[in-house]
Parts: sequence; structure tokens; C-alpha cells
Amino acid sequence: MDISLVIPVYNEEENLKLLYQKLKETLEPLGKEHEIIFVDDGSQDNSPKILDQLARKDPHVKVIHFRRNFGQTAALAAGFDLAQGEIVVTLDADLQNDPADIPKLLEKMEEGYDVVSGWRKDRKDPYLSRILPSAMANWLISKVTGVKLHDYGCTLKAYRQEVVKELNLYGELHRFLPALASWMGVRIAEIPVTHHPRRFGKSKYGISRTFRVILDLILVQFLLRYSTRPIRIFGGAGLISFVVGLLLGCYLSIIKILFRHPIGNRPLLILSVLLIILGIQLLSLGILGEFLTRIYYEGQNKKPYVIKYVTPPPQDER
Ligand code: UDP
Ligand code: MG
Repeated sequence: MDISLVIPVYNEEENLKLLYQKLKETLEPLGKEHEIIFVDDGSQDNSPKILDQLARKDPHVKVIHFRRNFGQTAALAAGFDLAQGEIVVTLDADLQNDPADIPKLLEKMEEGYDVVSGWRKDRKDPYLSRILPSAMANWLISKVTGVKLHDYGCTLKAYRQEVVKELNLYGELHRFLPALASWMGVRIAEIPVTHHPRRFGKSKYGISRTFRVILDLILVQFLLRYSTRPIRIFGGAGLISFVVGLLLGCYLSIIKILFRHPIGNRPLLILSVLLIILGIQLLSLGILGEFLTRIYYEGQNKKPYVIKYVTPPPQDER
């Protein structure tokens, strides 16, 4: 299998047939072996029926039906689990991404990139509610994660299979896929893609998601930097807090014992006690984190590294 398309679908009944036609028009001429995986994310409209019809007619089409709406990230993750293609392409079902861009992504992949991301250079969405918040989010994400892309929100992306199989997706982290993948040391490229206004159906997100992005960003940052050594971040802060609190306490003890000044009414006393307690708590949190990291990796046989290849290859692969 050469290419797997993974398409999350949530109440997109009017778009599906047209999308399928366009996909076929793009994929057939490529002459590559492909599969189209639709993930029906608990749609309440006719989407599931339409998808099943497509799957019955065309053996290339596979449909995963969720029991309820689990969100776009979960839908992508389910698609990734099933995907068999060497290259996995994700796109939206609402025809805002243009299937005609897929060959461009594939061409770029052939240059040796592991992830090629679409950049909706000329984005056709409402400015105030979508483009502006997303511009701010993009700026922030690129500053914090260090993965320099113009557009993280674009679903149209191509990945090598090894990359998506290695990713574990939760919550709403699909926006950070390139950043999460960067942990594996992948080469990432970005190419401008066409973007269309939504013609049928409604957008599933509002302005509120911008705020959630910030929390997700903190999490991703933590996962990327400290997930294998939580003691460094919690322990570091805890140690500083503990030492400062201890010094303040010593200072107060000295003026109490040597100079016989009353210290019961000093705000500094409260600060000192607070810092010491906080320091101990943070340190313990760091140690707990270390235990959890070990359980996470060892309990699931995960490795804190990703191998590109071994020379000579292990016996069973030769
Ligand atoms: N989607 C989904 N589950 C959800 C929300 C959205 O599978 O809970 C799908 C939706 O059907 C579409 C894609 O994710 O194919 C992007 O959604 P939308 O077009 O609403 O987002 P926008 O383009 O406005 O960012
Ligand atoms: Mg859309």
C-alpha cells in the first residue's frame, strides 16, 4: 500500500459525495495503491449511511464508525491505527482542503521529508473569529515549540507511516502533530495549499478553542522537554523555593535569637513558611513524576528514543 488518506467526518453529509469524487479524480491518475479511511466521529446526520454506501461500492474505501463524538484528534488517531499506506495523508471532509493538493504534498515527500504540512496561505474563513486567533496561536506555537511553521491548524498534511504509528494522540493535540513528531527528529516541510470557504455544513469549532490551545501548548511543551525527567522542572523550582524559604527562616531565627526582635508579626515569616512547604511539595511532585515516567515507559514497553535504523539490520528483518 502506497497511500492512506485519513479523513475525520463529523456531520458532513452534503460534502461527502463530492469529496469522494474529487479524491478519486486525484488518486486514480497517480497510479498508486491507495486506501481512503473515513472516520465517522459519531455523526448524527446521514454521513454514516453515505460513507457505508461508498465503502460498499469501492473496496478502497474503509469507514470507522465511532459510537459517539470523540473529537477530531481521536478520529485521526483511529485512522492512523488502521492506515497501512507508506504515506499517510490527512485532510478535512468539508472540502475546505483541496484534494488536488495531495500530489504536491507527495512530491515534496519524495524529496525526503518525513512530514509535509499544508499552509493555507490565502485562508477563506471569517477574519475575526478564525484567522486572527489562529495567527496568534500559530505565532505562539512556533515560538514555544521551536517548530517553525506558518499554519499548524491545517489538517492537510502528509506523514510517513513510521511517524504516525509512533504518535499517541489525546485531547485536542492534532494541532501539535508536527511539534510532537519533531521529538522523533523528523524533517518537516511546509507548502502553500489552496483553501476554500466552507460551502455546506457548519464549522465545528468556535473562538473558545483558542484558549484551549494555550493549555495544550503548555502540555506539549512539557511532553517534549521534560516527560522523561520531570524532576528537573519540578525539582528545580522546588529546590529554589525551599532554599529561599530556608534562608528567610534562618534570617528570622537569627534576629529573634540574637537580637530578641519579635518576629510573630512579620509577613516575611509567612512567606518563609510558604516557600518551604511549596518547595517540599514541588520536590515530591517531581519524584512522583519520575515514578510515573517509569511506569509509563516500562508498563507499556515504550522506549524513550526512536531508532531510524540499525546496521547491520537485526536478524529477523533480513
Ligand atoms: N471534525 C470531527 N470531529 C469533531 C469536529 C470536527 O471529525 O468533533 C471534523 C470535521 O468533520 C472536519 C474536520 O474535522 O472534517 C475539521 O472541522 P471544521 O471544518 O469544523 O474545522 P475548521 O475547518 O473550521 O477549522
Ligand atoms: Mg473546515
